[in-house]
Amino acid sequence: MFNRILVANRGEIALRVIRAAHDLGIEAVAVYSEADRGAPYLEIADDAICIGPAESANSYLDISRIIAAAEISGAEAIHPGYGFLAENAHFAEVCRSCGLVFIGPEPEVIDACGDKAKAKATGRRAGVPVVPGTEGAVDDIEEAARLAEEIGYPLMIKAAAGGGGRGMRLANDADSFRNAFTQARQEAEAAFKDGTVYLEKFIKDPRHVEVQILGGADGKVVHLGERDCSLQRRHQKLVEEAPSPAVDPALRKRMGDAAIAFAKEAGYTNAGTVEFLLDASGDFYFIELNARIQVEHCVSEMVTGIDLVQWQIRVAAGESLDFTQEDIKVTGHAIEFRINAENPERGFAPAPGKIESLFLPGGRGIRLDTHVAAGYTIPRHYDSMIAKLICYGADREEAMAIARRALREVKVEGPGLATTVPLHQRILADPGFRSGNVHTGYLERMLAE
Ligand code: ADP
Ligand code: ADP
Ligand code: MG
Repeated sequence: MFNRILVANRGEIALRVIRAAHDLGIEAVAVYSEADRGAPYLEIADDAICIGPAESANSYLDISRIIAAAEISGAEAIHPGYGFLAENAHFAEVCRSCGLVFIGPEPEVIDACGDKAKAKATGRRAGVPVVPGTEGAVDDIEEAARLAEEIGYPLMIKAAAGGGGRGMRLANDADSFRNAFTQARQEAEAAFKDGTVYLEKFIKDPRHVEVQILGGADGKVVHLGERDCSLQRRHQKLVEEAPSPAVDPALRKRMGDAAIAFAKEAGYTNAGTVEFLLDASGDFYFIELNARIQVEHCVSEMVTGIDLVQWQIRVAAGESLDFTQEDIKVTGHAIEFRINAENPERGFAPAPGKIESLFLPGGRGIRLDTHVAAGYTIPRHYDSMIAKLICYGADREEAMAIARRALREVKVEGPGLATTVPLHQRILADPGFRSGNVHTGYLERMLAE
């Protein structure tokens, strides 16, 4: 096992990784930009190194500065968290060539999964159902228009390098297709410096159901059941739960087997997520693999009792899993609410600022993953998520009751500050959500009312 690891991230996920390291008796080194200087969570780390200015391009995304920080601090491995360099195959390769262990899958695997069009080809080879669409990327607009007719409308034009809900366009008919195609390419080029796109049938009102996988250093892969992330805004998740209200044990097994088949075909090790769309008839289709820890991993941890981040570190250190698929039991129900410093009343505009008064819920059934504290100023430069409230109960009803109680307790106040808490309260009061009968377009329709 390592003595010391470096955490190449910030905020709640940096603290989450530091805690996992400490639970394993390992030292954790934090890095920070000038905008994060003085953040309270940095004091919990065994060492903290400034890696540059606020702009992430020159700090959290600057590979040379992060490698230098690891070398100076004597870290043996680097955990990338999510976002930033987490799915950057080049970064994983640089780590390897510098004699540092990248805590995640092999660079070749990250590369193969990072291109969503290629990942779908891997899915097909593994016999996993994928959303019908082009076999790979399409460059030529005439060719694309012809393939679009074959697939049928409505369809999605998606960036191969896409992520974070960006780089997707809906085309409803042949008339709007050419425009949408050109725009999608331009947007993908601007957002990801890669204009590669592919076409995919638009699945109407599906649920987003994803399977957590974990592969040991010996290549054995297990799944930890599913998460339902159907409540989204602009293709970004806002509430996630495990298990999915729409998945019974038989479907769980089929989706789990499909996820493992994908992982085997891809040569996957470490933690990852296989994302599917589940339609109303109970058919599911692969959309992508996220080769990293995800924001919503906590709900799977709550219902399985397995610490995913500790296992990421252990697998990277060469360990095999000390349990099998049969040992994994899904018990109880967990729901995660993303508390973002955004104003739902004003189109979810970022609303960061200084937290002058703070009260965070606790008590039975609550897990709160956050890096914020009273007196902390939320920097405006980064993602707006400031906390994750995870509520655990014996069943979905109890998890919702605990959530209602906990959301009443939350107080995050300061000039200009607003959060998604009132929206979560509305969601919890909504009969559709309460019955578990939602889909990926549900929240936006609810907001439009
Ligand atoms: P999840 O919530 O399932 O972990 P998200 O897609 O919401 O996954 O991404 C988590 C974080 O990573 C977000 O901060 C998101 O903005 C960022 N992210 C994911 N993929 C990319 C990408 N390709 N480019 C830029 N940011 C990304
Ligand atoms: P990202 O890489 O940004 O996470 P995904 O491909 O995982 O993008 O899709 C994100 C979300 O966009 C899905 O959860 C779903 O809500 C919607 N989506 C993606 N592809 C389709 C599709 N073919 N049909 C309908 N909705 C889709
Ligand atoms: Mg996704």
